[in-house]
Amino acid sequence: MQAKPHSALVLIGHGSTLNPDSSTPTMDHAETIRRLGLFQEVVCAFWKEEPALREVLRMVDSREVYVVPNFISEGYFTQQVIPRELGLTGETTQIGGKTVHYCDPVGLHAGMTRLLLARAAEVAPGVPPEECSLIIVGHGTGLNENSTKAIKDQVALIRQRNAGFAEVIDSYMEQEPLLAGWDRLTTAPNVIVVPFFIADGLHSFQDIPVLLGIESEPTAAASQMEVFRHNPHEIRGRRLFYSSAIGTEPMLADVILDQVEAFDKARQTAAATDENVTSNSLADTPALPGKLSISQPPRSILASLQAWLEQGGSHLGEVAVRRVTIAAADATGQSAGSGSGWILTHHSDADLAGTGALVRHTDAASAREIARHDAAGEFRPLKSAPTLKRGWEIVLSSLAEVRLALDYLNPAALANVVRLAEGSVPRLTLKQMLGRQTGMYRVTGLIRESEAQELVAETCQDSKCLRKIIWPWDENQGWSLLPPEKTICPPPPRDGSPWPLICTDACPLLVGAARELVRARQKAEAPPVSTPVPAPALS
Ligand code: SF4
Repeated sequence: MQAKPHSALVLIGHGSTLNPDSSTPTMDHAETIRRLGLFQEVVCAFWKEEPALREVLRMVDSREVYVVPNFISEGYFTQQVIPRELGLTGETTQIGGKTVHYCDPVGLHAGMTRLLLARAAEVAPGVPPEECSLIIVGHGTGLNENSTKAIKDQVALIRQRNAGFAEVIDSYMEQEPLLAGWDRLTTAPNVIVVPFFIADGLHSFQDIPVLLGIESEPTAAASQMEVFRHNPHEIRGRRLFYSSAIGTEPMLADVILDQVEAFDKARQTAAATDENVTSNSLADTPALPGKLSISQPPRSILASLQAWLEQGGSHLGEVAVRRVTIAAADATGQSAGSGSGWILTHHSDADLAGTGALVRHTDAASAREIARHDAAGEFRPLKSAPTLKRGWEIVLSSLAEVRLALDYLNPAALANVVRLAEGSVPRLTLKQMLGRQTGMYRVTGLIRESEAQELVAETCQDSKCLRKIIWPWDENQGWSLLPPEKTICPPPPRDGSPWPLICTDACPLLVGAARELVRARQKAEAPPVSTPVPAPALS
């Protein structure tokens, strides 16, 4: 596609508070596209992980932004959650001085057919297609007919292509035709199963193998297995080839770019009027009165980071950053002088930087892996938790890389500080935030103030999360059970003092906990179900 050096690409994924692999493909594809250098900025955001959807537009400086949902189909998330959280009101929305284009989800693009065929060929190399049945599998709940439709469309497209398979069928985990009966649904001696999912999460890596008979019970997550599964599996008298989720296919990065191109083409085809452009000025307006910002003029995040480092800034959350001299090497590995760069460590390891005592990394992407698990190997869905492991250092030569590494280690932290300083961070009370939840989280709007006070004190305490809260319970009531330093967010520093991690909105962990709490109370308060008294027998 044509380069867009003044635009940003925002990839939206679902993410998970439980499964470390859910966000991996979205971040991998972002890395791939970032390396191509087609966009000025490439960032990700997630519904269940950090950075949050509401933070992501703050993270880009570009005036034009393409938002691509890394989702398999249209549905609740792409039609309700993403537009609501990003403040999008149409195909193209003018918001906060940015022109934001909302593209179709990747799974709808015709290029997915190419990926499915490539994945099938890759998983069963050398097996003639005419001796293979191909099953494209989805969840299928009846809650989202669109996801079933996306799979049926792909099956029809593959059949039209005459790809040579003995048969191509759709099948589902929870609706007919059920995947558990895969051997009865197919006739060929070889069966290839490709999950039409974005990530190797709970469904495709842990649940489907049980339905197929590959495993007797759900295993650990893909990234926690020492050995990946090997094909083929000799089961029920057939040779079964099971692929990883289609969303993990590296070529999906091309489909993401295709979706941006398709958006532009459709826009050119539409009459060159501004009919499809809407404006969301509400999203620019702080919902609360009062000033929490010092209203500096807008500045790029990179320029703000540079200014902070030049003023001696060195601490962001648990991360320490410091300027160093880096020895350079030529292509043959010979010394080629030295230049300046930066070194990042856990702040408790800052004195060990450059001594050889820490494991050295030299690329920003390694920060992603460092931030993923704690020292005990547990997944860290909340990167703001004070559980960043120690023992590493990352040496980087450019400020852009420092920014990227910091975004992996403390997602959106730089953007929140800079935008708060500009006064461009809209503010919602927790009551407002929970009151506008939909779907299974709608019930959180029923939380009582006393419950919220205890919940926030428990969930957001510094021992669990280092972010400082800028939202109160409502316009009149703050947090009586939290220490003052947790809620009084210091103004973003003009000098080099540590930048705070700022919580601008309740995160998925808190919203999820609010749901559990309200549901437990509703259950406890529900009237007991009376046992019907049997009618006396007639004599
Ligand atoms: S809601 Fe609480 S736990 Fe979640 S990010 Fe904010 S401060 Fe941290």
